[in-house]
Amino acid sequence: MENYVGGEWLSVEGDGQAVTNPATNESIAEVPYSDEATVDEAVRTAAEAFPEWRRTSPVDRVQYLFDLKYELEDRQEDIAQALSREHGKTLGEARGEIRRGIENVEVAAGIPNMLREGSGNVEGIATRMDEHAVREPLGVFAAITPFNFPAMIPLWFLPYAVATGNTFVLKPSEKVPLSSQLIYEAVDAVDFPDGVVNLVNGSADTVNALLEHEEIEGVSFVGSSPVARHIYETAAEHGKRVQAQGGAKNYAVVTPDAVLDEAVPNIIGSVYGNAGQRCLANDVVIGVDDAYEDLREKLLDAVDDLTVGSGLDEDTDVGPLITGESKDRVVEMVEDAVDEGAELVVDGRDFEHEEYPDGHFLGPTLLEGVTTEMDITQTEIFGPVLCLADAADLDDAVEMVNSTQYGNASSLYTENGAEARKYRHEVEAGNIGINVGVCAPMGFFHFGGRKESFFGDLHAQGEDAVNFYTDKTVLIERWYSN
Ligand code: NAD
Repeated sequence: MENYVGGEWLSVEGDGQAVTNPATNESIAEVPYSDEATVDEAVRTAAEAFPEWRRTSPVDRVQYLFDLKYELEDRQEDIAQALSREHGKTLGEARGEIRRGIENVEVAAGIPNMLREGSGNVEGIATRMDEHAVREPLGVFAAITPFNFPAMIPLWFLPYAVATGNTFVLKPSEKVPLSSQLIYEAVDAVDFPDGVVNLVNGSADTVNALLEHEEIEGVSFVGSSPVARHIYETAAEHGKRVQAQGGAKNYAVVTPDAVLDEAVPNIIGSVYGNAGQRCLANDVVIGVDDAYEDLREKLLDAVDDLTVGSGLDEDTDVGPLITGESKDRVVEMVEDAVDEGAELVVDGRDFEHEEYPDGHFLGPTLLEGVTTEMDITQTEIFGPVLCLADAADLDDAVEMVNSTQYGNASSLYTENGAEARKYRHEVEAGNIGINVGVCAPMGFFHFGGRKESFFGDLHAQGEDAVNFYTDKTVLIERWYSN
């Protein structure tokens, strides 16, 4: 893996780590750790590129994004294959992920129009005086991204940062650097002016060098909550803007009014898709009152139909977990839940794949009888495990949903509009799905998140992204000769 700085691919000497295919545990690449000096060079290069890029008209800046969209689309299948190899997700999931990333390039290509919002002017605030608010870019922004969406999440940030006139440095997850490498091949083909879009590989030390660098104006982060908090505090201490999206613990609630035959496949996709390694996974599912028994039966049938395997095999539904440690952690959580009184109805712990005996596979698992006192209902699982619970009524269910420290997402399955409205008002989550199990906002809406799931005020995507990557100068003018 190489860094991309100043429009050139650069190899990095020194320490690094192997990138492995989680389905086979084979090493497929080496990723270097960029040290402080390497980070400094990348950031200074981005800072040098800023004045000229800022002077470039937004109309001209977005022409690069139109080109980037087509370059990414041309490479879509190559990126999907690499993504599936390094992460383990299915090819279908990988293709869908890249599409969602490209959607953000498309939204950011409309930045000239979006820049008008929040600007504005009031004429005649006093005699011969007018007042205007003008949006301006700030300088160099960094984005630090997680392993679970290696292609989409860098594209939550890159297009908006540069379209608004900033320059940009990406530090992708060291577990999955291949996708970023291919995305930057597209960036290279587009031929952005040197230094506008940069890439540094590395791990925690690389991140900390970015957080402390005097030329970084702001930091976008997505990852686990403890690291999100660290990023938020450290970057803020160094005077930077921060948007830090953290981990999650999401619940789905199914009422007796729900259309179960539609709800169940949707829930299965939410829980077991991406092998559960998704910040929007609803890993606790609550059946309200009479809904419980039918829901249970239908879920068990659907779980039975899931095929576990390499993401590269077209018939796979559930790929491997990212590492052996991740698998061990999930298995331990399941066993602790059983010790705390949950019943293991479907046990995927001993799953072994004949063709890939060294893969980090965990079979779909289903626990029943979970309560909010158990750790498994409070801690993010990030594995193919569904925890089934029951509630007497919707009020009970809402109380359970709000029992966690997180506030990323939640879904309600119902055909009752009044219940849906109540849910939306009372549930403490930034993204809410009604009969939608993976409530991932389109690129033209911000991606929500509350409580320990988000640190900051301006979220990723859409109008929030424009606000995050720009500041508003107020201009008050008076003309004596008027
Ligand atoms: P992670 O926090 O381990 O790593 C994320 C990034 O932070 C990586 O680039 C990593 O190199 C860096 N990092 C890790 N430890 C660090 C440290 N001590 N100091 C500085 N930098 C450090 O997260 P992950 O395991 O890659 O991703 C999974 C997590 O991301 C889950 O909790 C998931 O819910 C969350 N996530 C959240 C969203 C959201 O929108 N809220 C989206 C996707 C993933």
